[in-house]
Amino acid sequence: MLGPGSTIGILGGGQLGRMLILAGRSLGYRFVVYEPSGPSAAGTVADNEINAAYEDEAALEEFARSVDVITLEFENIPADVIDRLSAIKPVLPERFALFTCQHRQREKDFLKENDFPCVPFEYADSPASLQVAVHTIGFPCVIKTAAFGYDGKGQIKLRNAQEAEDPDYLWNFLGAPPRVVVEKWIHHVGEFSVICARKASGEQSTLPVIENVHINHILHTSIVPARITESTAQQADSLARSIAEKLGVVGLIAVELFLDAEGKLIVNEMAPRPHNSGHFSIDGCITSQFEQHIRAIADLPFGSTDLHRPTVMVNLLGDLWTNGKSEPDWAGLLEDPKVKLHLYDKGEAREGRKMGHFTVLGDTVETVLEIAEAHFAKLQET
Ligand code: ADP
Ligand code: MG
Repeated sequence: MLGPGSTIGILGGGQLGRMLILAGRSLGYRFVVYEPSGPSAAGTVADNEINAAYEDEAALEEFARSVDVITLEFENIPADVIDRLSAIKPVLPERFALFTCQHRQREKDFLKENDFPCVPFEYADSPASLQVAVHTIGFPCVIKTAAFGYDGKGQIKLRNAQEAEDPDYLWNFLGAPPRVVVEKWIHHVGEFSVICARKASGEQSTLPVIENVHINHILHTSIVPARITESTAQQADSLARSIAEKLGVVGLIAVELFLDAEGKLIVNEMAPRPHNSGHFSIDGCITSQFEQHIRAIADLPFGSTDLHRPTVMVNLLGDLWTNGKSEPDWAGLLEDPKVKLHLYDKGEAREGRKMGHFTVLGDTVETVLEIAEAHFAKLQET
């Protein structure tokens, strides 16, 4: 067990790291952030922040020596960095879980090999093989770069054969990546996620199933409890638990799911870290995803993830900051006693950039959702 007072290193300095630190601090842990791009949202609430490249071996070593355990809030960490760090201090989650989830080909192969339900897919590594893959899958379909995509970046949806006529253009549009995955587009009736925490002993704890609404491939709202049958919720929960077990995750894994028109759950993708859809749990659950992650990697007993009340989380993207500068008027949110506002102190607001979120708690999912959408509409007007 890694007791309070120990120091946790975090690779990545975004809002997920920030909220992880805020949760871990209340348990008495200390934090060092490693973020190549410069002073970060997590760095401002950490005890120390190291801003250096992943190629900077001396900085990596200094980071590893200054902490007791290393975790991450961003999965695209190069392999050799993980190897270098884990030679000095434990890195959790370990290599296998991280590497499987950070690359769509390894992820899809893992799902298929282990008989987890996943989207029909093909791979391509050139414009010519892309054309074959697209026609094998059929339309509509979506092309995704195998690595480094997030929030729908590195993806193109193709509705018909006409849109696939120029594979060289599509390939270059995606930045001529080494490899892409072509997936069948699933006409789903809903998107859901399950966040599972797992300790080295194999003990697990899941958050309630989350219903997610995306706009332009970016998460907009998370709704808990999800509006699905008890049996679908149980299937979703057990899928996430089995995936966490097979990956040997220590920490969190978020499993994103589609529910198709026939009522079947299909795994979309996994993330071995805290997840945007779990932000509701800061205000909505006894133990948040962030605290549960700390408990998992420090090998503390798990807290209860029971939901206080129906909760809806709404993302606040940079689009709400007019001209990228002027701050939205938060008065409406702050005046409503059932709303909790979270801002990430990121400075510059860019389109699509996650700047904050708010949660609404109430008596029923329907009323909470209505209140949340009304607040969001007001923010868009101002
Ligand atoms: P990321 O979250 O890394 O950007 P995802 O693969 O989760 O990438 O895609 C983002 C969103 O795009 C999904 O949550 C979903 O709304 C939509 N999407 C992606 N792939 C599919 C698919 N095969 N069928 C239907 N919708 C999809
Ligand atoms: Mg996703």
